[in-house]
Amino acid sequence: VKWVYTFGDGKAEGSAGDRNLLGGKGANLAEMCSLGLPVPPGFTITSEVCSWFYEHERSYPDTLAKEVGQALEHIASVTGRTIGDSKKPLLVSVRSGSRASMPGMMDTVLNLGLNDETVEAIAQETGDPRFAYDSYRRFIQMYSDVVMGLDHSVFEEILEDAKANLGHDVDTALTADDWKNVVAQYKAKIEEELEEPFPQDPEQQLWGAIGAVFSSWMNARAVTYRRLHNIPESWGTAVSVQAMVFGNMGDKSATGVAFTRNPSTGEKKLYGEFLVNAQGEDVVAGIRTPQNITEEARIAAGSDKPSLEKIMPAAFAEFCAVSDKLEKHYTDMQDLEFTIENGKLWMLQTRSGKRTAKAALKIAVEMADEGLISRDEAVLRIEPASLDQLLHPTIDPKAKREVIGTGLPASPGAATGEIVFSSEDAEQLKSEGRKAILVRIETSPEDIHGMHAAEAILTTRGGMTSHAAVVARGMGKPCVSGAGALRVDYRNETLLAMGVTLKKGDIITIDGGIGQVLKGAVPMLQPELSGDFGKIMEWADGARRMKVRANAETPNDARTARSFGAEGIGLCRTEHMFFEGERIIAMREMILAESEKGRRAALDKLLPMQRADFIELFEIMHGLPVTIRLLDPPLHEFLPKTDEEIAEVAAAMKISSDKLRERTESLHEFNPMLGHRGCRLAISYPEIAEMQSRAIFEAAVEAAKLTGAPVELEIMVPLVGLRAELDFVKARIDAVAADVMKETEIKISYLVGTMIELPRAAIRANSIAEAAEFFSFGTNDLTQTTFGISRDDASSFLMTYQLKGIIEQDPFVSIDVDGVGELVKLAAEKGRATRPNIKLGICGEHGGDPASIHFCDQVGLDYVSCSPFRVPIARLAAAQASA
Ligand code: ADP
Ligand code: MG
Ligand code: MG
Repeated sequence: VKWVYTFGDGKAEGSAGDRNLLGGKGANLAEMCSLGLPVPPGFTITSEVCSWFYEHERSYPDTLAKEVGQALEHIASVTGRTIGDSKKPLLVSVRSGSRASMPGMMDTVLNLGLNDETVEAIAQETGDPRFAYDSYRRFIQMYSDVVMGLDHSVFEEILEDAKANLGHDVDTALTADDWKNVVAQYKAKIEEELEEPFPQDPEQQLWGAIGAVFSSWMNARAVTYRRLHNIPESWGTAVSVQAMVFGNMGDKSATGVAFTRNPSTGEKKLYGEFLVNAQGEDVVAGIRTPQNITEEARIAAGSDKPSLEKIMPAAFAEFCAVSDKLEKHYTDMQDLEFTIENGKLWMLQTRSGKRTAKAALKIAVEMADEGLISRDEAVLRIEPASLDQLLHPTIDPKAKREVIGTGLPASPGAATGEIVFSSEDAEQLKSEGRKAILVRIETSPEDIHGMHAAEAILTTRGGMTSHAAVVARGMGKPCVSGAGALRVDYRNETLLAMGVTLKKGDIITIDGGIGQVLKGAVPMLQPELSGDFGKIMEWADGARRMKVRANAETPNDARTARSFGAEGIGLCRTEHMFFEGERIIAMREMILAESEKGRRAALDKLLPMQRADFIELFEIMHGLPVTIRLLDPPLHEFLPKTDEEIAEVAAAMKISSDKLRERTESLHEFNPMLGHRGCRLAISYPEIAEMQSRAIFEAAVEAAKLTGAPVELEIMVPLVGLRAELDFVKARIDAVAADVMKETEIKISYLVGTMIELPRAAIRANSIAEAAEFFSFGTNDLTQTTFGISRDDASSFLMTYQLKGIIEQDPFVSIDVDGVGELVKLAAEKGRATRPNIKLGICGEHGGDPASIHFCDQVGLDYVSCSPFRVPIARLAAAQASA
């Protein structure tokens, strides 16, 4: 096996394609060399050595030392310098680099090879002892920190004291002798703290640094970063050793970082920062304020510090040419690191640059227009989830944030408003034209109206899939959930946040994108859906196979869905219509009625309301398919709870509160999620399904008259596990349809189908498909019932599962392909075997998750349905899945 790959002098053993082996940094250094760009020579120890290192108690393969020795000779042949040489010593950097970019997560050591002897040689050779000792103190500081584990703050103290004594406030003011002094103090400090001297042997230094870089793969920062970005531990890091070039050699030297296009706006303009007389880490560390690279950016920033363009025009011009060449070569915006040593430009790194969603769109569209990439490629360049940033107002990045609490980023976007603790107050404020932030310990279905009225929702309990989170995402409202350190006191109407007590009416801002609660109002930026965004969407629509529908029931949601490009409604949850205003009372009357007659009387009140809702919905969605699900939630959820609510319903039913309370108690369920819900309701009380069917068909007739373009009606029966359940309910639906057609003398075409959300339904899908004309996978319930966990209770232990590596991802967020996915696949196959043209879709939360959308495309579903605000994301993800 070959463990080491060299680069330098216009040649390289590796190339950009060797990313897995050499890490992004090593592979691109090799590629830049082969392109003939000025890159200091060096070599990369492969990530396979990293795996070896961890599999063999942190030791190395036998032949590694020999290969490293040869590679050092390679550097010597290019530079004429050898490590530890007393006349022309070679100094190197030892750099980490994995196949995925993990900026700043692992360690790097610069100026390695300096000791008491070589520092003098460098001072002699350059005639610049200040530079030599500046480099030495940097090396000691970095090496002690990274390799010897000494906190760098001990050095900072020494340096601060030295500067104070000398009356300087910037590092660059220190002379050679000053640095010499500092170096002596550093070394003494190390001996004092670690009881061993700073290593003088450059070989020992080199292997110390290589070991430290491999070890940094497992440091806490890197481990956390990998977990957050789903980067497997097995990838490992490579180590690149590279001849040093010096940006700290005086006023003709500099170091900087740049992007070939602006990473926040996407504008096609070189954008970057640099520091004169400095080394790499100074720019990031923020020791001095960096200067703009281009004159234009300097003017725009109103800075009085000269630009690189101004002070080093030749190096600047060369850098522009290199930047251009690299962008064209990689056909993507590059993030560059460079150093200028005595006027000569050296390239130290290139990689695809991170960018905001807005910049990503602009860059992809412009690169396609420039002919650099194809339109299909442009579509692939956008991270679907990142579009979320653009669909909601966001906090101005320049704004100051006073964070008073953090929770989960449950639903993106930002909003400011007055704190309210009840849904009633939220509605009250809205009716007065004021903005409310609904703050609850947790929310329940009864809070829907309050959530609608509020600008944003904050809960102190519950996970990413808690009621508040799911509903908020569905509504496109910002939500922070599970902000556990905050205390809500409903009785006194206060919110205790980091020692501060906020009252009802106090102003807060919610940043749902990152899960922050901020004090006061904060300036916002509004979303913009035209321009580059629109173009990418258009290109995506041309490329995708699956249709994208929305989950929507209110007129508002339906309009939003259409404006975001939804091609129909995949799930209309009729129960949401029952929580509004006076309806809940009629609903409760219906549930609590003791007889069919009582129920029918209450249903008669609900019928016109429901019909009116449907007419409006069908008008908005004219010409498109609309899937309506019959009543699904357990009746338990609708039961009155407070004395006040009980009295209200009792009065409406003309019975005593006590009697009603008895009835309520008899309907109580221990586990409503697995209780009297779904099609079970329609079987116990067929009149409910009949009322709903009537409302649907009558509305369809009305809406078709109004618009001339009827909706494609699909009626969906929830929670079917047995074929006979579906047969029973379908018979009722068909009977009502026949009645309405007879009464109106208008033919209505419609489909009856079912949700597949129980394992039994998936397994028996061939038989169920004999009755069902479509399947819609309800993957929320299917995940619950397949795993046997309740999503309302799972957040407490799913997090632990993720931390302990039992599961990689929350199965309620991204579909569990191996388990739940297998059931979906099975049901799809069985359904098609029975009914080849059966319509297949998904309407769970997963319908808006890009990874799950890929899966849906693979199993050949016809459409995905997701919350309106995720429609653009789904359109893009579906296009990428088709590619
Ligand atoms: P990171 O992955 O954290 O960016 P790097 O390995 O890129 O770490 O090193 C950080 C900085 O150190 C670089 O941006 C560069 O400025 C400086 N650096 C690294 N290697 C060299 C070198 N051979 N010569 C001069 N500076 C270097
Ligand atoms: Mg770097
Ligand atoms: Mg369900």
